[in-house]
Amino acid sequence: MSKYIEKVLADVKAKNSNEPEFIQAVEEVLSTLAPVIEANPQYEKAAILERMVEPERVVMFRVPWVDDNGVVQVNRGYRVQFNSAIGPYKGGLRFHPTVTLSVLKFLGFEQTFKNSLTTLPMGGGKGGSDFNPRGKSDGEVMRFCQSFMTELSRHIGADTDVPAGDIGVGGREVGYLFGQYKRLRNEFVGVLTGKGRPFGGSLVRPEATGYGTVYFAQYMLEKLGQDIKGKTVALSGFGNVAWGAAQKLVQLGAKVVAISGPDGYIYDEKGMTQEGVDYMLELRASNNDVVEPYAAKFGAKFVKGRKPWEVKCDIAFPCAIQNELNGDDAKMLVENGCMMVVETSNMGCTADAVNYLNGRVAFAPGKAANAGGVAVSGLEMSQNSMRLSWSAEEVDAKLKDIMKSIHDNAYDTAEKYGMKGNYVAGANLAGFIKVADAMVAQGVC
Ligand code: GLU
Repeated sequence: MSKYIEKVLADVKAKNSNEPEFIQAVEEVLSTLAPVIEANPQYEKAAILERMVEPERVVMFRVPWVDDNGVVQVNRGYRVQFNSAIGPYKGGLRFHPTVTLSVLKFLGFEQTFKNSLTTLPMGGGKGGSDFNPRGKSDGEVMRFCQSFMTELSRHIGADTDVPAGDIGVGGREVGYLFGQYKRLRNEFVGVLTGKGRPFGGSLVRPEATGYGTVYFAQYMLEKLGQDIKGKTVALSGFGNVAWGAAQKLVQLGAKVVAISGPDGYIYDEKGMTQEGVDYMLELRASNNDVVEPYAAKFGAKFVKGRKPWEVKCDIAFPCAIQNELNGDDAKMLVENGCMMVVETSNMGCTADAVNYLNGRVAFAPGKAANAGGVAVSGLEMSQNSMRLSWSAEEVDAKLKDIMKSIHDNAYDTAEKYGMKGNYVAGANLAGFIKVADAMVAQGVC
């Protein structure tokens, strides 16, 4: 690590000592940047790193709402507008009890590099609330979303900041948020992505993150002279992302033997079928956050309270939440013969796990592998601006091209800097260079 990077990292740790997730994300990126920092003294001169680790703006607000019993509830809302060097702030909203400023700062920081990799003009942002949608009625979710947007609407806009979904925020929530924005501003604009089809949503957006991560894995396998067909796969999570990944994997002939929920995991030796993939949607819609009923329905095994990383598989796709795969899980996967880990959740692997896996197996970092979701959000923004909509085939073809560009950019950049096959370094360097050059060109701002 260069002296400059060490100094910036020490400052980040001192200034944000109560934000462990944010520190983890910054350390993961900065620790790979030495080759470009050393070759480009203009970055240090312009204090690019110091500026990149500081969000341009953080909005934190009260979200009061009334539950079905008439009781007033109060949650905390946030929007972290991290970096707008290459486009309007862009990134999802997460509604989950684990949401803190640290979590949203790590997500906004990651999003800046991810969005840069997509080839589309989008800056980085993230937001959300500690509101837990689990077990809430539609009416409660609507009132919460309306209250949340009442404040958020002052800070966003189609050319300023375009939020979307993330954990706990899907089509229903985006619909309520959009309706409230339109009502408050008297404007029908593409201020959110992940919208319903009848009001400007893009085809393939719901599937995009899951499809994209599988396309990314295919491009990696191609480099290794291998095919995804016939590969045994373990997935975690049963939200939108895991569902999209499972669907594409089943279509391509991979054998998905494990899926998981907050209650444990399912082991299905025979491999998942399309009916199983469809059932994932039903489970999610039940709003109970349990995967167990899958076992009885499909004659599979349910393993309570454990993670799917103990099953024998060729490829693992963590698709749930940050730090869901730790160093011990990583060792277990490798001991069981796993040859590839495709991090699909944002920072799904702990630092220990990344260090252990990167080099031992083919390892895809989340900011490259999961970028398909925000990439199709970018395509939704284009369609909204043009006031037209593309067919599913067109969007899917564009998504595939974007995933190929991300793959090739990460691969080639790693090779250029003498780290062939290291997608972690390649993605960080490629994502960084574009944003850093834009910041240098725009002066001190
Ligand atoms: N939440 C997704 C992500 O982590 C998508 C964001 C978006 O579509 O703006 O990239």
